[in-house]
Amino acid sequence: MPGGVSSPVRAFHAVGGTPRVIRGAKGCVLVDLDRTRYIDYIGAWGAAIAGHAHPSIEEAVIRAVRRGTAWGTCAASEAKLAEMIVRRVPGLELVRFSNSGTEAVMTAVRLARAATGRHLIVKCDGCYHGHADATLVRSGSGIATLGLPDSPGVSKDAARSTLVIPYNDLATAEAVFREHGDAIAAVIVEPVAGNMGVVPPTDGFLGGLRALTAQRGALLVFDEVMSGFRVARGGAIERYCVSPDLVTLGKIIGGGFPVGALAGGAALMRMLAPDGPVYAAGTFSGNPVTMAAGRAAFKLLNGHAYVQLEMAAARLHRGLVSALSDAGEPATVQRVGSMLTVFFGSTGVRTIEDARAADHGRFASFFQAMLSRGVHLPPSGYESWFLSLAHDDAAIDATIAAARAALVAMREQPRPAHS
Ligand SMILES: *Cc1c(COP(=O)(O)O)cnc(C)c1O
Repeated sequence: MPGGVSSPVRAFHAVGGTPRVIRGAKGCVLVDLDRTRYIDYIGAWGAAIAGHAHPSIEEAVIRAVRRGTAWGTCAASEAKLAEMIVRRVPGLELVRFSNSGTEAVMTAVRLARAATGRHLIVKCDGCYHGHADATLVRSGSGIATLGLPDSPGVSKDAARSTLVIPYNDLATAEAVFREHGDAIAAVIVEPVAGNMGVVPPTDGFLGGLRALTAQRGALLVFDEVMSGFRVARGGAIERYCVSPDLVTLGKIIGGGFPVGALAGGAALMRMLAPDGPVYAAGTFSGNPVTMAAGRAAFKLLNGHAYVQLEMAAARLHRGLVSALSDAGEPATVQRVGSMLTVFFGSTGVRTIEDARAADHGRFASFFQAMLSRGVHLPPSGYESWFLSLAHDDAAIDATIAAARAALVAMREQPRPAHS
């Protein structure tokens, strides 16, 4: 396996050492092959919002598995999960499932081009929208962590069709529309950026993109693969009261199984085959086991769950801020709901440039110091940490205690050269 991993963000390139190989997970704890236990903040990159191996998801999955794991035909559970999604998010009427967020974005881009008859896509530097050609340009964590400029092998035409603007920079978005407005099919954006570390949208950024795209006949696509049903019960759309034309979903909606979905208003979504001419398909799309897991996860994600997630994350946030300040360690903690990032040596991150300017060498030291104290953070300073419903006060307090001890140990080490 190249690099020993199935996805590059799992490697320890940025932090040194080799990844822990996990034998199992329960609640908020990962257990590796040596049976060492770690409090987990990767959370399956956000998918494990209920905690690992949640009994009610497990039960729903086992029931589903016993009825056959793939039928290649229609399942009642697809319609039921689709209904759960559209009920939560204002403006959504139809849902097309896929097997990954990448595929959902591919379909969104194709649909936007077909609907507008235009070819350019505008994305933000540092936002990740999956690994398809159209959006694999300046796409944040995986690429930033490995220090790759962009991926070779992306066709020049695909790269030329993608215009890149800084995140949180409405003025540049307006300038791009002044120059290329008639050719822009869509703006795609993470409404809460989570793939350059957590970067919330600045006031007016999302609303500004909404107004600009509507005015210029382009579509607005929110990539909520990470933020959807994470930052609020109805995702970022609910949290920021801005309605895009299309939304891509994934991670949480599969209850821990591979999944993606594209959703939007009926008129646009009916352009997808078989109602319309825009093709998108998948042997395993709407898989009955995934749908069962997704429905079980949604049942756990009631209003109370979001209060619980907010309280747990706020507790961790406060604890980290005070640990950092007591240690005299300059850093800023950025959080939206139950996702947060500690940017070392930074006073605030609004763009990928700010994220790059953070002290990633210091993060690497912190990562190792936390790992050796039984806390598994994502292995890059460009990633969000994810909390789940299984992160109880004891786990949070143990994490804060580990952070205090880690920071003390780091103070005794020489500061590595800024990298
Ligand atoms: C994870 C992610 C994707 C890609 O989803 P996959 O299921 O890994 O293909 C796309 N967009 C965002 C915002 C993501 O966080």
